[in-house]
Amino acid sequence: MGNTLIDMLQQFTDLPDGLLDTTPANLHQLIPQPSLFHLPGKRSDTLFVSVLLHGNEPTGFLALQRLLQKYHRQTLPRSLSIFFGNTEAARLNLRRLDGQPDFNRVWPGTALPESPERLMAEQIVEVMRQRKLFASIDVHNNTGLNPHYACVNKLDNDFLQLAALFGRLVVHFTHPKGTQSSVFAELCPAVTLECGRPGQEYGTEHAFEFLDSCLHLAEIPCHRITKQDVNIYHTVAQVTIADDATFSFSDEAADLLLNHDLDRMNFADIPNGTALGTTRHKKLPVLAKNEQGDEVTSRFFSIEEQQLVITRPIMPSMLTLDERVIRLDCLCYLMERIEI
Ligand SMILES: [Zn+2]
Repeated sequence: MGNTLIDMLQQFTDLPDGLLDTTPANLHQLIPQPSLFHLPGKRSDTLFVSVLLHGNEPTGFLALQRLLQKYHRQTLPRSLSIFFGNTEAARLNLRRLDGQPDFNRVWPGTALPESPERLMAEQIVEVMRQRKLFASIDVHNNTGLNPHYACVNKLDNDFLQLAALFGRLVVHFTHPKGTQSSVFAELCPAVTLECGRPGQEYGTEHAFEFLDSCLHLAEIPCHRITKQDVNIYHTVAQVTIADDATFSFSDEAADLLLNHDLDRMNFADIPNGTALGTTRHKKLPVLAKNEQGDEVTSRFFSIEEQQLVITRPIMPSMLTLDERVIRLDCLCYLMERIEI
């Protein structure tokens, strides 16, 4: 399985036959390459939705399918542009294929080297910039035990109002770079939805309801958001496993043996002194980087009596028990509450 050759961004104004009934794994038969679809609606300002930037996160696609079924043979309430991302990886239920970059790290502002996928992302932004945009929504799943939440790259009132339509948990981040929402935040209110684990009906229904509201709303509410409406957390560090350390949830010979119920800590207030696992490594077996990319590991972690412990009160997110995800993406993010 090699790298897809993406010459030009594929664009269409009609959906392929069979789209409403296909599965995420079979979608590549209808949409073999990443493709952008433009569907007209009663309101001309466009809702932009991207799905399957990660091939093993099907909830956005399933929610969109439900939305398109609802308006089948009708005019949509608002114009809708849809980007179907990594359908090739979805075929194999993988985040991305070997040799492909992460489709949610290739957008303008990215730190990744030139690639066909990066050029494609640039083209999408140029195309969408020509339109009057209502909002941008990028839909994801995660693997651990996480509540549903919306991520924003700006704390502007319209971004927070849009996020609050999804739920009261909002995460603000400015790192990693090259994400879909970070570039669309320059063009319109933009959110990334985290809809829990794949395969949960409640996730699909929640994303569908949100997308449907975004098609109907005359405008994003403009009254000031208050702390009664949302809980906002700011990402202060991304935590990965150190390059020179091995890790496992089961192998006691690994440099870092992680606790097997780690994901219960997601979105919980974790006091300092809390252990994430045991280690016999001489150095810290994890690496924490702040939003600027500076190493800040010792601000958050220390080793005490062969335990890897948190050294300040913090709220983690995206902790997962999936070793592959930890290796490919990260162990978790660390967050602090923002008062508004
Ligand atoms: Zn994702």
